[in-house]
Amino acid sequence: PQSFQGIYTAFLDRAEQHPDKPAFELKDGRHITYHDLLTDAQRIAHLLTRAGVQPGDRVACQVKKSVRAVAAYLAVLQIGGIYLPLNTAYTGTELQYFLDDAEPTAVVVDPANAVAVRDMTSDVAIFTLDAQGSGTLSACETRLTTFAPATAEDPAAILYTSGTTGRSKGAVLTHGNLASNCHALLEAWEFTGEDRLIHALPIFHIHGLFVAINMSLAAGATMLWMDGFDVDGIVDRMSTATVLMGVPTFYTRMLASERLTRDAVQNMRLFVSGSAPLLTADFEVFYERTGHYILERYGMTETGMNTTNPYHGERRPGSVGQPLPGIEAIVADPKTGEEMPAGQIGSIEVRGPNVFDRYWRNPDKTREEKRDNGFFITGDQGYYDTDGYLHISGRSKDMIISGGYNVYPKEVEQLLDDHPLIAESAVIGIPHADLGESVVAVLVAANGQVPSDAELTGMLADQLARYKQPRAYRVITELPRNVMGKVQKAQLREEFADIFTF
Ligand code: ATP
Ligand code: MG
Repeated sequence: PQSFQGIYTAFLDRAEQHPDKPAFELKDGRHITYHDLLTDAQRIAHLLTRAGVQPGDRVACQVKKSVRAVAAYLAVLQIGGIYLPLNTAYTGTELQYFLDDAEPTAVVVDPANAVAVRDMTSDVAIFTLDAQGSGTLSACETRLTTFAPATAEDPAAILYTSGTTGRSKGAVLTHGNLASNCHALLEAWEFTGEDRLIHALPIFHIHGLFVAINMSLAAGATMLWMDGFDVDGIVDRMSTATVLMGVPTFYTRMLASERLTRDAVQNMRLFVSGSAPLLTADFEVFYERTGHYILERYGMTETGMNTTNPYHGERRPGSVGQPLPGIEAIVADPKTGEEMPAGQIGSIEVRGPNVFDRYWRNPDKTREEKRDNGFFITGDQGYYDTDGYLHISGRSKDMIISGGYNVYPKEVEQLLDDHPLIAESAVIGIPHADLGESVVAVLVAANGQVPSDAELTGMLADQLARYKQPRAYRVITELPRNVMGKVQKAQLREEFADIFTF
């Protein structure tokens, strides 16, 4: 389409318009300008090309978070390669799986891992990325590589999903997917070059990479760059920042700090949470403490992470808002795909220019999750309220079927979470001889003691049908989460499967 402008071209335009503007502000006060970033990206592009990387080849990057890692990403876009970021936690057989699956032409790694990766792959160019800029990649002369302009349909990246419900799947995202996502967000959040974004997310996941970095570079904004999340670091930066993009655990931890005050957030205009459900209590207390309603964003790797969000609409606790412009997000009958009326829980399905092309080398999975009419079956369940706000009820795979009845964990969790002695809960299904599955609640205490089982049973008896009420409770100190704040329910089910006998 005529209007297509890829992420790399948008970045180039900004670098031309304001070469001396900081793209990044680092912890030590140093600035990396748009010009610096472009120069480094071009240098890396040159080296990749010299190593034989052609348009359509995969370049895997498993590196610590750094500005140079962003330059490597831009370099891959520039030469028309397919960018493949890998979680830095992967080692051994895990890493081997991704390398075998993606068959990259080149791999970019931290110096400490170069030998291990060399042992796993033959026939692959290996680059080390030195955060200081003195490593292999920068040892070469700067010579401009020709820019390979991509079409909207060309693949730009393979992003592996978080693997919350099974083995990670490689979602192939096109240049058009990235661009449409980015432009929808710029519009919805009125994000401009004036914005200053606190970047504390990992960059191997779609949230920190394609939501935050693409948006910021395309707008010509500045990122206040953090290696990772720490409350004091965030609070320090808020005095000169405008936007924070985070995951729910950021907010839970910030709320535990006395430094989070109205004064501290005076310069901020937008707080965003995504990747996992935000606790309703955190949403409310954050408002009391700061006067800001957190914007809760919903999406997934396959849709570029952005499906709904309520920038202009009212922000409601427990709701993820309305579909972004140009995106259809419906609640459908899981069998027929037909849209369901407001108030009824069904399968959340998404169609639009943001929806991924296919799963990498997995046509069966693609057919399973993409309908002929283009709708992607997200694997989440939810409903629209009568005002058109979407509510997530949980993942289809986490839904419990007990005695033939559907139990949506979120409904039970919300009631438990409302109890002042409960910090949070996870409701899971455990195999049961008669019922198929039985409902079990795993609780985290707010301060020391949770209510007794009898007390909880009494409380829920008034609020829930019998089949939805937990048959057993267990207390743990912390819910298992991955780095994006996603509760690992599969792990809980496994952990508690043997403990309960019914
Ligand atoms: P896998 O598909 O491999 O099982 P995953 O679905 O966790 O892993 P991601 O693509 O990283 O991988 O995460 C997308 C999922 O995260 C969504 O499908 C949804 O379940 C959850 N999610 C994201 N944002 C929200 C939100 N605001 N509220 C509730 N859930 C959310
Ligand atoms: Mg998923």
